[in-house]
Amino acid sequence: MAAAGGADHDHLHCGICTSHLTRSGKHEPRQLRCGHSFCADCIGDLCRHAANNTIACPNRCGVTTSATTEEVPKNYPLAAAVEAKEHQSRQQLALLHKCATAAHSLTPPEVAQVMLMCGLSHAMDTLPNMRSRLHGHLTSLVEGSTVTRLHEMFITKWANAGSKSLRLIYRSTRDGPSFDDFLRCVGDTKGLVFLIRKDKCVFGAFISAGLQLPDNPRGENRCDCNVCHFSLAGHFNEPTKWRECRQSVWVAGREGTAIGANLWIGGWLWLGYEDGAAADMRSCCYLTPSRYVPDGYVGAREHGDAVLGGSQFFMADEVEVLTVV
Ligand SMILES: [Zn+2]
Ligand SMILES: [Zn+2]
Repeated sequence: MAAAGGADHDHLHCGICTSHLTRSGKHEPRQLRCGHSFCADCIGDLCRHAANNTIACPNRCGVTTSATTEEVPKNYPLAAAVEAKEHQSRQQLALLHKCATAAHSLTPPEVAQVMLMCGLSHAMDTLPNMRSRLHGHLTSLVEGSTVTRLHEMFITKWANAGSKSLRLIYRSTRDGPSFDDFLRCVGDTKGLVFLIRKDKCVFGAFISAGLQLPDNPRGENRCDCNVCHFSLAGHFNEPTKWRECRQSVWVAGREGTAIGANLWIGGWLWLGYEDGAAADMRSCCYLTPSRYVPDGYVGAREHGDAVLGGSQFFMADEVEVLTVV
C-alpha cells in the first residue's frame, strides 16, 4: 500500500499535515503518480503552489505529478482501509463501554475480546469471575488521576495511541491551580490530554503538540497541531469525540494572556481566562458552536451552542493534564 505517513505516523495519517485520514472530504487520501498519498487538503495546497504545473512528491521520491486534480485521484484502497479501521475502533469502544456499564450481559467471545484489549489473561477462569475482573479493571483509576481505565482506553484511541496508557502530569487540586504551577508540571511534554470536571460532567481536549511559551513573558505564542475535543460523561450516551482536525493552540507568557486566557485550545476551550498570568487555571470558558455539535448531545446549551461546563464561563472542580506514554 502507498505510504502516506512520516516516521512517527502510520499510513492512516497524512504525511504533510499529520491529520488523521478520512474516508471522504478534506482529509480523504489522494494519490500522486509515484504512489505516495496525502490528504485532499494538502494536495490542493500543492496544486495551488505548483511551479510549472508540476508537483514534486513531498516524500522526495523524485517523481513529479501534473498539478491538476484529475492527475491526483482519490486513493480508494487507502480510503477503504481508513473506513475499516474507524469501524473497528468504534466497535471496540462500544464493547468497552458495554463492559463497564453492563458487564453481566457480555457473551463469552466478548469477554475474551475485552480481556485481550485490556491485556488481561483469561486462562482457566469462570465467566462470572472474568466479567467481574474486567469490570473492576475498567473502573479502576489511572494512578493519581480521576480517569478510569475505561476512559483511558477511549482517550488513547482518540489520540491514535491505541495500546498505550496515560500518565498524570498535572492536577489542579494536587499541584496548585496557578499558571506557574501548571507550566512547572507540564513542562515540554508533548501530546497533552486536558481533562475538566464540573459537577457530573467530564470533558476536554487532546492536543498533539506541547506547550510552547513565547520568548516575551507578556506575549503569546501560537502553534498549529492536531486537536480533538471529547466528552467522557454528562453530554452523550457514551464517550464521544468531535472536531478532530488541525487547529491553533495559543499559550500566554508567564505574565501575559493569550486572547484573554493563559491557554486557548482550538478556538473554544480557554483555561485560566481571568486576571492574566496569575489566573486560576480552573477558570474556564468552553463553547462548541452549534454546527459542530455531534448528534446525540444532551448537555447544556446557550443560544444553540454546546456549553459543556453548564454555562460558557465556569469554574471547574478539577483540571487535569495527562500524557500518552
Ligand atoms: Zn494533509
Ligand atoms: Zn512519491
